[in-house]
Amino acid sequence: AVRPLLPVTGADLRVPLVTGGSAPYANLDIAASAPALRSVSERVDQLLPYYSSVHRGAGHGSAVSTAALDAARRTVAGFVGARPDDVVQVVRHTTDAFNLLASAVPGDVVTLDVEHHANLLPWARGRRRTVAAGRTLAATVAAVEAELAREPAALLAVTGASNVTGEVLPLADLVAVAHRHGARIAVDGAQLVPHRRVDVAGLGIDYLAFSGHKLYAPYGAGVLVGRPDWLEAAPPYLAGGGAVRAVALDAVEWAPVPARHEAGTPNVVGAVALAAACETLAALPPGEQARHESALGERLRTGLAALPGLRVLRLWDDATDTLGLATFTLADHPAELVAQYLSAEHGIAVRAGRFCAHPLLARLNDGGTAVRASVGLGTSSADVDRLLAALDALVTTGPRWTYDAAHLPAPD
Ligand code: PMP
Repeated sequence: AVRPLLPVTGADLRVPLVTGGSAPYANLDIAASAPALRSVSERVDQLLPYYSSVHRGAGHGSAVSTAALDAARRTVAGFVGARPDDVVQVVRHTTDAFNLLASAVPGDVVTLDVEHHANLLPWARGRRRTVAAGRTLAATVAAVEAELAREPAALLAVTGASNVTGEVLPLADLVAVAHRHGARIAVDGAQLVPHRRVDVAGLGIDYLAFSGHKLYAPYGAGVLVGRPDWLEAAPPYLAGGGAVRAVALDAVEWAPVPARHEAGTPNVVGAVALAAACETLAALPPGEQARHESALGERLRTGLAALPGLRVLRLWDDATDTLGLATFTLADHPAELVAQYLSAEHGIAVRAGRFCAHPLLARLNDGGTAVRASVGLGTSSADVDRLLAALDALVTTGPRWTYDAAHLPAPD
C-alpha cells in the first residue's frame, strides 16, 4: 500500500453521495488544482496578521510583508535553480506568465500542437508557428529542429509535461535545438514543476512559468522566471502605481523589472504560499516524490488497462517518464457522465473535458471529451483502488442513478 507522502488540507473531508450517506473525498483531480500542503497553510496563517501594503508603508506590517515578498522571489529562484541575474516575476498563473512574455518577445514563437491553450493563444498576438508533434519524442524534437532551421524564431515555447497524457518532454534536447538555431526556450512548467525538479540554469532553460495552485499552494499567484533583458525592454504589462520611478502628467519613467510588470498591490500572500510549497518540496529526499507518484501512476494505469472498453490517451511510444495521471475514454460511457457518476455515487473527483487542449484532443480523440485522473503528494493507493473499483462497477453493472448530460456544464 502507498500512503500519502505529505499532509495536505482537506484530507479528511467527507462528501455527500446522491445514493444517500457520505464517503471520504477522494481527490483525483490534482493536475487541475492541488490541495494546499499543511506547511503552506501554516505559513499563510503566520503571515496574515502582518498582511500589509508592500514597498510603500513604513509600519512593521509593511516591512514584514515586503521582506516576505522579496524572500519568496529568492526561494522560487533557488527552487528552480535560476541564474543569478534571472528575474522572478510574480504573476497570477501560467496563463498570465505567457501573456506577459508574449508582450516582450521580439519575434516569432514556435510551439507544438500538443500544448495547453495557455501556451498557444498568447503567442497568436504575434506570429505563432505550430509544429505537429511526431509519433515519438525523437521525431518531435527533429520536427522542431526542422522548423527552426527553415526559418529563424525568437522563442521556442514548449510544455515540460503534457497535461493530457502526463508524458514528460526531453527538455535538454529541446534546449539544445532551440539554442543551436538562435532561439530562446520557454517551458510551460504548470504540470512538470509540481512533480519533478527542474534546473533552469543546469538545463539552460531561458524562461520557466508555473502556477501556485498546481504546486500545493492556493490560487492567485504564479511566476515567470527567466532572463531579464526582453522584459526590461518591453513596455509595462500593467500600467499603474508600483511600476514607475517617476510620473509627471505628461511623462513617465518606468521602473526596472520585476516592478516594471507588477503594477498594483501585489499578491504577497499568494507569492509567500507558493514559496512555502517550494520549500517543502525541496526538503523531500531526492527522487522520493517522483517515486511516490510513479508507484501510484503505475497502479492507476495498470488498473485502467484491465477494464474492458477503456482506452488511455498517449502520444509518444518512446516517452520514458510519465506524471501520475491518466486520461481515458470508456466505450459507451460519455466522459462527462463518468465524471458525474464518480462524484455523485462514490465521492471521487476527476476531470472530464478537453483540458484546455482542443487541438490535442482533436488529434487523440476526434475532438471528443475524455476523463482525467491524477494523483499527488496527498494521494494513497486506497484512493486509486476506489477509482478502479468504481469504474469496474460502472462497466459491469452500470450506474445506480440516472444522469442527464443536458444538465452538466459544457466541458472546456
Ligand atoms: N499549462 C498546462 C500544461 C496546464 O496544465 C495548465 C493548467 N491546466 C496551464 C498551462 C494553465 O495554468 P493556469 O490556469 O494556472 O494559468
